[in-house]
Amino acid sequence: MAEIIIAPTVEKVDVKIPDKLIFGRTFTTHLFEMTYDEELGGWQNPTIKKFSELSINPAALVFHYGQSIFEGLKAYKQDDGRIALFRPEKNFERLNSSAKRMCIPEIDIDFVLNALKELISLDRDWIPTKPGHSLYIRPLVFAYDPFLGVRPGGKYKFFIMLSPVGPYYPEGFKPVPILASDKYVRAVRGGVGDCKTAGNYAASLLAQAEAKKEGFTQVLYLDALERKYLEEVGTMNIFVHFEDEVATPGLGGTILPGITRMSVLEILKDWGYNVNERNISIDEVIESHKNGKLKELFGTGTAAVISSVGRLKYKDFEAVFNNGEVGELGQKLYKELTDLHYGRKEDLRGWLTYID
Ligand SMILES: *Cc1c(COP(=O)(O)O)cnc(C)c1O
Repeated sequence: MAEIIIAPTVEKVDVKIPDKLIFGRTFTTHLFEMTYDEELGGWQNPTIKKFSELSINPAALVFHYGQSIFEGLKAYKQDDGRIALFRPEKNFERLNSSAKRMCIPEIDIDFVLNALKELISLDRDWIPTKPGHSLYIRPLVFAYDPFLGVRPGGKYKFFIMLSPVGPYYPEGFKPVPILASDKYVRAVRGGVGDCKTAGNYAASLLAQAEAKKEGFTQVLYLDALERKYLEEVGTMNIFVHFEDEVATPGLGGTILPGITRMSVLEILKDWGYNVNERNISIDEVIESHKNGKLKELFGTGTAAVISSVGRLKYKDFEAVFNNGEVGELGQKLYKELTDLHYGRKEDLRGWLTYID
């Protein structure tokens, strides 16, 4: 593909990071954009330009039939000033796997990774340096042909936008109350549960809103067929720490293959834990809690990194874990991952990509 064009009018970065950052509200000076046109043969006009409004036809396919996929990752400014990305190639691989399933043309991973590095380099002053802060990165692809028939688009936009963010839990790492839903499901085998595609999140809003009304922060979904096995929590994968095992549901097409999940599995194996990807029924969780064999539950995802589960409700069952305190293993994993992110620990697994 062609060289990335950097629009000449926007080389001066005008940085105004608010004191109180609300997740996903503030955007940096620039964004990366490229356009796919079937007739012109592939991705065209890679450009870094000023972040601005779009003008899009109301008939654009994405608004009607939802051909939209995205990713979420972070850049961290380390204590020595270097900027690190955590396993970014995994995010673009996953974007391509979402693309395949949604009939969206794939992107060239090396090219886009380079574009991301250039973009961050240009907007580097936007990366907050306070403890726990980072730059959230949102790649996005959608179909924009103006057409009212259901078919795959022939024109797509790819964007990368950047947003400075504070720590997910501003008052410190805190356990969250979770409601296991016996009413709503998230995904079925053969569906799109393993894609980061827009509709999955629209479909989760009502369950989330109802859980919130009952005082819960997140919904734990069970499998759609038997409503028995744990799947995942909102935008996090779930782990269960039993007395002699750490288990997480296997990837069967209904669960988002989280990069934090993948990393946590590797770390736990390195630490010598008995780790398994397997079916975990909600009854097994309840029974082990009753027998004192359940140590903790935690969620994994880029936004919060690790989220300890403080309370769980399912039908008539309700339990508080660790007296409402953060679980020990969740805490240890949180420290391990954030130490890597901020360069406080040597990156022996080669997970970091640096921007110079
Ligand atoms: C993004 C996401 C996750 C977590 O994935 P990470 O790569 O670890 O951030 C888990 N579940 C869902 C539904 C998600 O959208």
